[in-house]
Amino acid sequence: MDKKLVLNFPPSLVDKPIISCLVKEFGLDFNILKAYVTPEEEGTLVLELKGEEEKITGAIAYLKQLGVKVELLSKEVEMVRERCTDCTACIPQCPAGALWLDQATYQVNFTSEKCIACGICLKACPTKAMVLRI
Ligand code: SF4
Ligand code: SF4
Repeated sequence: MDKKLVLNFPPSLVDKPIISCLVKEFGLDFNILKAYVTPEEEGTLVLELKGEEEKITGAIAYLKQLGVKVELLSKEVEMVRERCTDCTACIPQCPAGALWLDQATYQVNFTSEKCIACGICLKACPTKAMVLRI
């Protein structure tokens, strides 16, 4: 099975080799979809973990015990077209290429099939045009 997670690392953990420990201890495959460090030096990682369910559950418990905030991506994101001003602020933030500019119309479009529901665009959008449906 596979699970997509958003991991938020406090500054004290940003430079620790936590993901390589996950691979060694739990035998999981992973795919990093996005990684960045905020100006406050907190780290965010959008990660896909693949492996046996109980090993993924163990890995999540291990991360939480270290002080990593773990969110599962199991929600749906939608664009409220009427609120979007086509400012493009969300496009470079999206790790999945789900938000894109139509070069002919200069309209920002959302491809829901590509969206991994990481929620990053919800914070980036100044007009609250990207919303979560739970
Ligand atoms: S939630 Fe937003 S930023 Fe994340 S993948 Fe979907 S469209 Fe992109
Ligand atoms: S950040 Fe919000 S308003 Fe700007 S293009 Fe993206 S969805 Fe539209």
